[in-house]
Amino acid sequence: MTAPNEEIYHGIPASPGIIIGVTKSFARNQDPIVPDIVDDPELEVQTFRSAIAHIKGALENMTTSVLQKHGREFARIFDAQAMIAADDVWNKNIERRIMNERLCAEYLYDDEARKVIAKLEESQDSYLKERIQDIHAVTSRLVAQMRGEKHITMKNLKDATVVVARYLLPGDILAMSFGRNLGFATGVGGPTSHAALMAKSLGIPAVIGLGDVPEAIPSGADVIVDGYNGHFILNPSANTIKKYRGIKKAQLELKRQLAELKAKPAVTRDGVRIAIKANIELPNEVSKVLSAGATGIGLFRTEYLFLTRSDFPTFDEQYEAYSLVLRKMGDKPVVIRTFDMGGDKFPGMRGSLFESNPFLGWRAIRFCLDRPAVFKVQLKALLKASRCGRLEILIPMISNYEELIATKKIIEECRAELEAENVRLPKRIPIGIMLEVPSAVMIAEHLAPEVDFFSIGTNDLIQYTVAVDRDHEMLSRLYQSFHPAVLSLIKASVKAANRYRKPVAVCGEMAADPLAAVLLIGLGVNELSASFQMTGILKKIVRSITYSGARRIASRALAMKTHAEIESYLKNEIARVFPDITTVIQFSRRSQDTPLRQNVKAPTGIESPTSGERSSNG
Ligand code: PEP
Ligand code: MG
Repeated sequence: MTAPNEEIYHGIPASPGIIIGVTKSFARNQDPIVPDIVDDPELEVQTFRSAIAHIKGALENMTTSVLQKHGREFARIFDAQAMIAADDVWNKNIERRIMNERLCAEYLYDDEARKVIAKLEESQDSYLKERIQDIHAVTSRLVAQMRGEKHITMKNLKDATVVVARYLLPGDILAMSFGRNLGFATGVGGPTSHAALMAKSLGIPAVIGLGDVPEAIPSGADVIVDGYNGHFILNPSANTIKKYRGIKKAQLELKRQLAELKAKPAVTRDGVRIAIKANIELPNEVSKVLSAGATGIGLFRTEYLFLTRSDFPTFDEQYEAYSLVLRKMGDKPVVIRTFDMGGDKFPGMRGSLFESNPFLGWRAIRFCLDRPAVFKVQLKALLKASRCGRLEILIPMISNYEELIATKKIIEECRAELEAENVRLPKRIPIGIMLEVPSAVMIAEHLAPEVDFFSIGTNDLIQYTVAVDRDHEMLSRLYQSFHPAVLSLIKASVKAANRYRKPVAVCGEMAADPLAAVLLIGLGVNELSASFQMTGILKKIVRSITYSGARRIASRALAMKTHAEIESYLKNEIARVFPDITTVIQFSRRSQDTPLRQNVKAPTGIESPTSGERSSNG
């Protein structure tokens, strides 16, 4: 028998790492359930009740184990599902319908679920929309339980399993974190979807956005998930397996080398110190930040604390989270960003407002200044928590001078109110702003004297500069971090900050790209903040380069006309001048030769400029 041909599919690299393994196909049944007639409705009600009790118990157990392993924010996902399973009004309605209509429980449960989901789908509220996934999850458990089928869980997968599915729910990905050497490939999902962010946060290699490919693959197929480059390889040839084994080996060796850098400072060969900090989304990431050897937290995105809830956290809840992070970080600085609600993040928190263009809408500081009651709870929790460590407050999405002054005034009010309650606060708590709107960069000379630091948010700065939605599937080729306009804005930010002797950080994804890191240092940035997985890599880069060399490279790049020209120059020049970091670049940088979303289909009738073909070897 001849071996099947190797097939290479290109998707979105959602979470780095390589898994050489065997598929486990995972399909949620999307077909309507058949309305079977039951002979004994009372018995059906009894069976339904015990199914619900079983599911509730299983979800509560899951909540507890996730709570222990990952903390409260992730546990809330299962808690929300347990609450749906325990919904008495819903369950009594099903029981009543079983008695009246003499139909099977799973049909009626699914029928009710579809009605609720149809309503939720009309909602503009992202919190409510996320509940759709929870309802699907509970319904599929109930159907399986009523039919005596085993509930498929991702919790007990064998080593080296690659889950292939149309989509995975956050709960599935969490359950996978209990296994070893697991990865997944899904048809849908964007790079900033919950699935992608969770996979990254939990260290599960993943390729997403593969269209119809994953769901068509049965369990038991040999595959490779290359989460660095977004490659998904079906039936890899012996040569490909050998190549990837080699990559894994080299990766382990690099990991060992990077581990040795943990306690070493990030200083260039000619003596310039660069702060390498970490971005966190959840308080329980702090231990990983510390063990990665970061010199502080450069961005704590507080809005992720509110995953799966529709109200704002109380003062006590926020105080607990902020003080916990500050205490654990000890004498290392912690930059906590005030709420950046809206845009791509938790639009539901702002009520049922419909915005045709949320990225240009009522988000971040605009929302907070309009809702001072909400803002002040957060600011007071931050100020009080500042006694537990080295807090620095970061304000997102400043687009004009007045917003900064108004924010500073509110912070002073909060301080005065706390001090009136005899809460003693440190005299100076540094306040910085994110430079992520081009208008703010253009008036950076006016803003710099009013702040203690700048932090450049390149994710947004790029999208607002080149007018490309950062999540737009078809336009990712235009979302260019090396666009000469982006470089000029970064240069202008540094110039304004230098004039007032204020430090400049970069906390957007650009800081996590090794080529860009060299460029940013050369442009005069003092601090890079990226996910803790990048800490060792960034330290290695800083310790391998010279500041003078990076400056020379940056100044040449600033004179170039196109993204492509700059990128290719950086690739070649950095490899030539700093050969020590070529391996690091290879393992931590998405191959830019691979368009980001090759398999994503354009809407019907429109040819996507990036919708690629699969390539077949063999
Ligand atoms: C940014 O815009 O670069 C940033 C760090 O903020 P966020 O990605 O949370 O919008
Ligand atoms: Mg931003």
